[in-house]
Amino acid sequence: MTMTEKVAELPEKIKKAAGSIKKIRPAYSQIVDFYEKIFTAQEKSAAKTEIKPFTISDDIVSIKTKEKFPLISLSEFSIDVNSSRKLFKKICKIINKSGNHMSAAAEIIFNANESKKIDFNELYAALLNDDDASFGNIALKLNTDREALAFISYNSIKPSLSLFADSVSKHINNDNPWEKGYCPVCGNTPVISSFESDGKRFLTCSFCWHKWTSPRLFCPFCENREAGTLHYLFSEDEQEYRIDVCDKCKRYIKNVDTRILSRFVYLPLEQVATFHLDIMAREKGFESGVPLEFQV
Ligand SMILES: [Zn+2]
Ligand SMILES: [Zn+2]
Repeated sequence: MTMTEKVAELPEKIKKAAGSIKKIRPAYSQIVDFYEKIFTAQEKSAAKTEIKPFTISDDIVSIKTKEKFPLISLSEFSIDVNSSRKLFKKICKIINKSGNHMSAAAEIIFNANESKKIDFNELYAALLNDDDASFGNIALKLNTDREALAFISYNSIKPSLSLFADSVSKHINNDNPWEKGYCPVCGNTPVISSFESDGKRFLTCSFCWHKWTSPRLFCPFCENREAGTLHYLFSEDEQEYRIDVCDKCKRYIKNVDTRILSRFVYLPLEQVATFHLDIMAREKGFESGVPLEFQV
């Protein structure tokens, strides 16, 4: 099977996974419907996204690997601005139609784009450089809500980020396990953990969605490895999920056991369709290890 065929199948697989989740947890229907549209739009966009190939010298790779530094910083991500701006427009439409708390802002942002008031190079640079002041000024200039603008902007570049992270990760030597809590590609915190077919544990980056192998007994937020202080919470009804918690830093990460699920597992969908687990963890006194803006 070629890469393109695999990508072409994804929207259908996401649809099926979303359908199964809605059947088991009807309370999530609205949120799953919304994200199914966003993720489908992103996968379709990814198939048409072109990013510059990533190059780095072997010397720099070996220094960074030795020092346990991520291979790139956020400002080094290459973005396909053309495909991202098309996706940006599409996401505005999805949000507007969904009638959620961002709908009014999405309409203002959509109209600002139609009247060519958005400089996408400037917008994406502010996002990637983590330049809060510039990003705030752009939101102010467009007379719109900053959180909605951040949500739409980030989600519109997500296909580029993932593709670029794939190309960066080819330089990572997988012989040495990555025993750090942050993404080996970009340095951000993991958003979700998973167990895959061979029982290995993986962590997935909250920013670039790169997935890397991780020790099983390990808190990614404080790098604690002491057995007695690492536990998990779970519900009898949902054997496929558990919440890994750390007594040392009081943080948690959700974990999906893909070996138990017979349906297709699309981690971004699992992340948004398991907010009841976040509530459970918070009730037990644990905080999410991921900054709020990266949670969805
Ligand atoms: Zn990353
Ligand atoms: Zn910890």
